[in-house]
Amino acid sequence: MTVRDLPAVDALADQLAATGLPRIMLIETARRAIDTARAVLLDGGDADAVALARQEAARIARRRPQRVINATGVLLHTNLGRAPLHPPAARRAAEAATGYAALELDLATGRRGGRAAYTHDLVARLTGAEAALVVNNNAGALFLALAALGSGGRVVVSRGELIEIGGSFRLPELMLAAGVRLVEVGTTNRTHADDYRRALGPRTGLLLKVHRSNFELRGYVAEVGVQELAGIARAHAVPLLEDLGSGTLLDLRAWGLPEACWAPGRLRLGADLVCFSGDKLLGGPQAGILLGRSESLDALRRDPLARAVRLDKLAIAALDATLRLLLDEQPERSLPVLRALTETAPAVEGRARRLAERLAAAAGTRLAIRVEPTRAPVGGGSLPGFEIDSWAVALRPPDGPDALARRLRRAAVPVLVRVREDAVLLDARTLLPDDEEALEASLGAALADAAD
Ligand SMILES: *Cc1c(COP(=O)(O)O)cnc(C)c1O
Repeated sequence: MTVRDLPAVDALADQLAATGLPRIMLIETARRAIDTARAVLLDGGDADAVALARQEAARIARRRPQRVINATGVLLHTNLGRAPLHPPAARRAAEAATGYAALELDLATGRRGGRAAYTHDLVARLTGAEAALVVNNNAGALFLALAALGSGGRVVVSRGELIEIGGSFRLPELMLAAGVRLVEVGTTNRTHADDYRRALGPRTGLLLKVHRSNFELRGYVAEVGVQELAGIARAHAVPLLEDLGSGTLLDLRAWGLPEACWAPGRLRLGADLVCFSGDKLLGGPQAGILLGRSESLDALRRDPLARAVRLDKLAIAALDATLRLLLDEQPERSLPVLRALTETAPAVEGRARRLAERLAAAAGTRLAIRVEPTRAPVGGGSLPGFEIDSWAVALRPPDGPDALARRLRRAAVPVLVRVREDAVLLDARTLLPDDEEALEASLGAALADAAD
């Protein structure tokens, strides 16, 4: 192509019409592609304005966020949106979104009611907690608690718990922003009860314990348990807040989960308040859930920040539906996160074998396909080092795993995988019921790409 051959903007825009984008975006895309191609051609290079424009228009036309297939085996993947909702919970959110809802209205009296008051009652009933409060996310819950209970005073935390969780969530900075003074106690690896006792004084507003969600401390380590901390907090008339990160309302110890994620258990051990995310092990929408003493939660409700971190009606509807499901006899059969967590390894193996047969039929002789055992991490800043036995379809392409992993990520329905040595692993544990057909199509497209 030479500069003379460049198409007219209108004509090129016409060629992009099949993307369904509004005309104004087609014109803009065509103009940019022509400008880019012209610059390259004038520079003596080679460029195709039509191909450029088609590529860019297809990219813009894709829905965001794009649906992807999680074949990584990581149950709660922050980059992939954490917990998938139970479909009925998602439908409840859609209903709340498309109609009016009595969100802050008491229908019995016709007066203004508390936002999500019924959800607060439900959480409290499920857990035996005095009261509950739901906010926008767990970072918001912690921020609100620090601001309202720390009330400009000091907040005591172990040096071993001053965490950073992806993005800009760093505990010392969050405290600074919430207007409280951080008092660090103990050392990186060991903190003792006396370290806390010495640090507590008249200006202490809150004693904080934080779950190490994304790393482990091993070796010569010591920390003070909630029960003992609660005693220390009570002796100084200071509330104890535990940030669980990933909390559950159900006791999942039978499935090997650590006791520390079970929120009601933490309250029984003496924590005044606990907070955790709605979209980690709870399996609901993005939310921050606070449970505990009415007196403390009332202080949070009255804080001006409460309005800034309030939960929206879509999430309230989805959370309410998820909580109701947890009251069922066997929520692990239906709630996607619990199903993925509790499915037995032989059942996962069975699904992996069926998937392998299906993919082998589609891939023919272009790949070596086997079914192999793996370990699936829970991930998502929840339980570091906690992995479950799982099974994957292992694909061994002749040109190595990296190129195939890249092509799978670029398919119309992108597939996210794990690479182990010379194999691309498709872990069956995190595949959802509707994924298999799309996965087969994406693999077909990736292999056809390779053949070009
Ligand atoms: C994940 C996590 C948070 C942040 O929760 P979001 O719901 O993502 O805001 C806070 N604290 C801990 C310990 C966590 O693991």
